[in-house]
Amino acid sequence: MTACVSNHNGSLSFAGDHSYWFSELNGERMGYFKEVVPKMIQYRLVKLGWVGASLPMNLTFSVTNVCQSRCKTCSIWKLYNEHPEKRKEELSLGEIESVFKSMGHIYIFNVSGGEPFLRDDFSEIIKLACKYLTPGIIHIPTNAIAEKKTRHQLKDILSFLQINYPDVQLTVKPSLDHIEGKHDDIRGVPGNFTKVISLFRWLQEMKSDYPMLHAELGTVISNWNVEDIDEISTFVAGLGADSYRNEIAEQRSEMFNNDDLITPSPELYEEAIHSFVSNIRSEMKNKTMFQKITNAFRIVYYNLAIRIMGEKRQVIPCYAGISNAHMTPYGDIWACCTLGYSKSMGNVRNYDYNFLKLWKSPEAMRVRSEIEQGECHCPLANQTYSNILMDTPSLLRVIFEIFRPR
Ligand code: SF4
Repeated sequence: MTACVSNHNGSLSFAGDHSYWFSELNGERMGYFKEVVPKMIQYRLVKLGWVGASLPMNLTFSVTNVCQSRCKTCSIWKLYNEHPEKRKEELSLGEIESVFKSMGHIYIFNVSGGEPFLRDDFSEIIKLACKYLTPGIIHIPTNAIAEKKTRHQLKDILSFLQINYPDVQLTVKPSLDHIEGKHDDIRGVPGNFTKVISLFRWLQEMKSDYPMLHAELGTVISNWNVEDIDEISTFVAGLGADSYRNEIAEQRSEMFNNDDLITPSPELYEEAIHSFVSNIRSEMKNKTMFQKITNAFRIVYYNLAIRIMGEKRQVIPCYAGISNAHMTPYGDIWACCTLGYSKSMGNVRNYDYNFLKLWKSPEAMRVRSEIEQGECHCPLANQTYSNILMDTPSLLRVIFEIFRPR
């Protein structure tokens, strides 16, 4: 789930998954660790039941379920075709502001969808997130199909950040699942590949005016491309992305794809990432200590993902619903998008838009307890990185990868 890419310094680097809270950190940003470590201790205590739940450090917000893609790996786009009335239930900007106001500082604001830029007020949502959640990192994926609208909203967001929050890092990640027509076939929209490349080039140009912008690319590894990951990552390397993130295609309640055979076998997945891991290891000795730490986390993640898929269990304890939260377009709060609708913690509309009231509710505690009992498992990257941080044996493996003889 990672790839060898050329970074903005022209050298080869490895990036992947949702490890951006490590991967994007440079020397100046090491200070964030001071913030992360106490949180990790606190989350361990929550897991042990010694203290009550506190704010997550990672909030994912699916801002809309509107989408023009017709992906083979996700059926969110079908929702409003079949139930157009449901769209009216999406949170208004005022409601979103009330929820954000009830929260406090989080570290990562992760946008999801649907296609986020199809919300006319999307840039206003980002401004509200900056004002109330004060995230260090904002991450936005896009299918790049509504290119003009996307550029327009991004210009608004970038100007706003430049003036008001120049230290916030904005990562924008067009999705690239294959090359040329094969991408269009997986995403179900002719001409999509051309738009992805066009938007990505534009993002690269914008970086000179907006240094907080990181132009990325991301691939969903599924049964339709798992055997071509080397080819795709070589192509991406030629584009010069700041980083390249991959996510394994999973059956998730959120995506209405629980009956779809989209996830590659653990064997095929292992084969696809084998060369990535070898490359990471072979390049390790030339890296700075910080890059070594980042890459070591990735290696541990890949091994865990393969084990979780093969053994079909939580290989290490999952902190979903403690360290990470997910809010749907309708205000439902989930521990994670894999459990999604099947185990909602509640809806903010029923808690006066008070996130913490919901987060500490008996229903939220029940969901946490079911996760604790190991009733579910998945290799969700965003969550697994948080889990590694809080699992001592995994952290020891990270240390081993940093210092292992090469
Ligand atoms: S193991 Fe996966 S499905 Fe279960 S709570 Fe964690 S992230 Fe969600």
